[in-house]
Amino acid sequence: MYDVLIIGSGVSGASCAYMLSKYDLKVAVLDKSNDIANGTTKANSAIIHAGFDPSPDTLMAKLNVRGVELAKEIAAKLDVPINNCGSLVLAFDDGDLEHIRKLYDRGCKNNVPGLELLDKEQLHELEPGISDAAVGALLAPSACIINPWEYCLAMLETAVVNGTELFLNTEAMGITDCGEYVSVETNNGAFEAKYVLSAAGVHAGDVRRLVEEPPYEIVPTRGQYFLLDKDEGTRVSRTIFQCPNEKGKGVLVSPTVDGNLIVGPDANVGGADDTSTDKEGLDAIRAAAVKSVPGINFRMNIRNFAGVRANSDQSDFVIEKSNAVPRFIDIACIKSPGLTAAPAIGEYVVEMLAAEGLQLTERPQFVDTRKRPRLGNISEEERNRLIQENPQYGRIICRCEQVTEGEIVAALHTPIPPTTINGVKRRVGSGMGRCQGGFCTPKVHEIIARESGVDMLEVCLEEPGSEILKYRSKENE
Ligand SMILES: Cc1cc2nc3c(=O)[nH]c(=O)nc-3n(C[C@H](O)[C@H](O)[C@H](O)COP(=O)(O)OP(=O)(O)OC[C@H]3O[C@@H](n4cnc5c(N)ncnc54)[C@H](O)[C@@H]3O)c2cc1C
Repeated sequence: MYDVLIIGSGVSGASCAYMLSKYDLKVAVLDKSNDIANGTTKANSAIIHAGFDPSPDTLMAKLNVRGVELAKEIAAKLDVPINNCGSLVLAFDDGDLEHIRKLYDRGCKNNVPGLELLDKEQLHELEPGISDAAVGALLAPSACIINPWEYCLAMLETAVVNGTELFLNTEAMGITDCGEYVSVETNNGAFEAKYVLSAAGVHAGDVRRLVEEPPYEIVPTRGQYFLLDKDEGTRVSRTIFQCPNEKGKGVLVSPTVDGNLIVGPDANVGGADDTSTDKEGLDAIRAAAVKSVPGINFRMNIRNFAGVRANSDQSDFVIEKSNAVPRFIDIACIKSPGLTAAPAIGEYVVEMLAAEGLQLTERPQFVDTRKRPRLGNISEEERNRLIQENPQYGRIICRCEQVTEGEIVAALHTPIPPTTINGVKRRVGSGMGRCQGGFCTPKVHEIIARESGVDMLEVCLEEPGSEILKYRSKENE
């Protein structure tokens, strides 16, 4: 019997697992996917938002601002790439100037630190790449950019190191209230737990429906992006927003923690799992982005991708106990700024569980550090020392991102090891660069098979059915 069972290994589920792993509890996380964070956490703008957007007195405002503080602490402790670059909301006319003044007031009410309204001169001095048409801006120095996937992995990996059990390829398909506990039926057998948390992202309504009709409707809303080569990564040094509209925060232009430039997203209501991209939407994003930053060279685009927001008919996050099954807590409608709010969501849910009667005794030997070998970021001396100790660190596998065999092998032996080529890519960055894996994929494929002891025919690019090799030639049999 688990104390707490968490459905969903995105950043909401991972943060709950991380916060719960500080206590002496038996916790498990289930995800239907074959890797963690394969939902919305995998594809978003990667911004730790300062917190001037949500209406004051909402749960979203409170968790957003607390989330920024926690993100900085957690990233430092768990070795997650983060850049405290700040953000700007541009104004192009009097209407926009009035809008950013409202955002400033709202941000002050939400206790966002350091907000400043800039005039045209101050703005252009700070960001010379911005369009001359911009006449002012709201500066939010507390905003950051992060690697969202690694942020989620770092929290979940730390939870696992502290005893949390992770079950991938395990889909919650039924939930039974057994009075003193809840049983969650899956394709991998039944799991019993004193409390169940559902952090199922765009599928929150489907999981809630296993206990009762959800009091909200999820409106999956796809957002598409351009990811540009590192040569474009210094066009701006902060995240550049335009004034938000009824569809959301609008098109942004931002550096990424890896040194690329990200441009997007748009907003298209559609299927929960539809991460397709389309020319019409991308053309519109491009036109909107050059209004902010005219010099962007879209010929340096290396990838388009899309993520799906768990937008809903509610304006706030919905984090509540079910009426039908009181031991079931729903973490739903976690749209943007869900990535930012995540660790504060974890803290909030732990408080809810304590109020429900869950006994919280601190884990005596809680391990709250994590270190990942990153050869690109260390001194030459340190690199040479590592290569002497292990020659695999001297063998470059991904030329574009300079990822070594040693880093890939290390990732394959972590507490949550990847099993797919894209799983390795998300952990170490191989295939993320200009050639998008054209050179390194066959080598990564071989290393996964060798280190994991599986046949190369079984290694997938991503989900089951995406095997790279289908047949073995006669001479290799
Ligand atoms: C275009 C876009 C831009 C965004 N930009 C930002 C941003 O810059 N900053 C910010 O703060 N936020 C941003 N967000 C929002 C943020 O990405 C999300 O709020 C956050 O990632 C949600 O995480 P989650 O864990 O709730 O959901 P998810 O990451 O979707 O995780 C849900 C998990 O549940 C699993 N699951 C679902 N059903 C079941 C089941 N029945 N059984 C088992 N497992 C199940 C899924 O496989 C998935 O892994 C953006 C979102 C989008 C789409």
